[in-house]
Amino acid sequence: MINGEKNVEQPIRWAMVGGGRGSQIGYIHRSAALRDHNFELVAGAFDINPERGKDFGVNLHVDPERCYPDYKTMFKEEAKREDGIQAVSVATPNGTHYEITKAALNAGLHVVCEKPLCFTTEEALELQVLAKAKNLVVGVTYGYAGHQMIDQARRMIENGDLGEIRIVKMQFAHGFHSAAVEENSESTKWRVDPKVAGPSYVLGDVGTHPLYISEVMLPNLKIKKLMCSRQSFVKSRAPLEDNAFTIMEYDNGAVGYVWSSCVNAGSMHGQTIRVIGSKASIEWWDEHPNQLRYEVQGQPAQILDRGMDYLYPQALTDDRIGGGHPEGLFEAWSNLYTRFAKAMVAADRGEMLDASWYPGIEAGVEGVRWVENCVRSADNGAVWVEYQ
Ligand code: NAD
Repeated sequence: MINGEKNVEQPIRWAMVGGGRGSQIGYIHRSAALRDHNFELVAGAFDINPERGKDFGVNLHVDPERCYPDYKTMFKEEAKREDGIQAVSVATPNGTHYEITKAALNAGLHVVCEKPLCFTTEEALELQVLAKAKNLVVGVTYGYAGHQMIDQARRMIENGDLGEIRIVKMQFAHGFHSAAVEENSESTKWRVDPKVAGPSYVLGDVGTHPLYISEVMLPNLKIKKLMCSRQSFVKSRAPLEDNAFTIMEYDNGAVGYVWSSCVNAGSMHGQTIRVIGSKASIEWWDEHPNQLRYEVQGQPAQILDRGMDYLYPQALTDDRIGGGHPEGLFEAWSNLYTRFAKAMVAADRGEMLDASWYPGIEAGVEGVRWVENCVRSADNGAVWVEYQ
């Protein structure tokens, strides 16, 4: 159970690039990083607009001297300080992640980067090599994976509760962009511009979330080949897709399916993963993350609840309050930020983190690789491609 006692000797001196006023994802980064005293926000280049970024930083109690106009200035100036930053989170539009993460690693900083880590597998592997060479941690915020019931599912599968795994059915299919909302929304406009968003829209923006959850639940499952069909129902979004279906074959004979969409009219998030084994299935929805549906063939379905003694012990360690009290996305992110902090401290000591998992650079690489393979398949006429 988490109760607010310290995880690290001293909070890690931390900064943000992006995540400024009005951004969608900045606040949850700060909330998750600061909640358990693992990090201390001491600097930032919060906004593409330097004045607005400084004003915002000051309102977050950051020293005005350490509210920088851009990330390059921040890394340079902070390196001169005895008490300079040790880690940085990158919460800017996709097209900047590669260059900012690379610059941060070269400045000797641990990084938490938003997904997608970058645009190509080649760039992702380059960042992986750089992080390894510098002994630095790169966390990637596949935040939903921090929900405790994901860990419960991982342990159930590991312990054979479902039997042999046959099918993994995933979707993240919301309806918020059923119309061309980007015409009046800055934070949607860049998402449908390939120069800023990269080679895909919904595959990278939403599809990679349940994909990463499947990697947590099924760490040994490896994609052998896939086939993807993508569409731009709002025509002006082409060549980027607002809907995509991906079918996958894994190397052990299991099969998988991901529906990625932002035009699923009427749906809120619609993010779900169903893992089907030879004996039983489990199903998890991000809109009710404290529950996991467990269906054994021939028996009534059961709803497993977070915080209950019948769960595997690993699914109880991150509870902050007893079962029945709903925990949510902010707690899930905090769980991951705690693991990032522990990994950073361990890396600084030259040690590896213990057996606990977190979305690190491998997850970042895999997300980019999956999108690249999906796009290659879709743009060749929705053909099967060997997974590269
Ligand atoms: P947004 O457009 O709402 O906000 C972007 C912020 O970055 C703004 O404050 C902007 O001023 C700032 N910015 C832009 N360029 C900058 C630069 N060069 N230097 C400093 N600041 C800069 O975007 P968003 O929706 O918050 O998305 C940001 C990133 O987070 C994207 O990569 C997106 O894919 C990701 N995201 C992840 C999740 C998740 O669940 N992990 C959810 C939403 C968004």
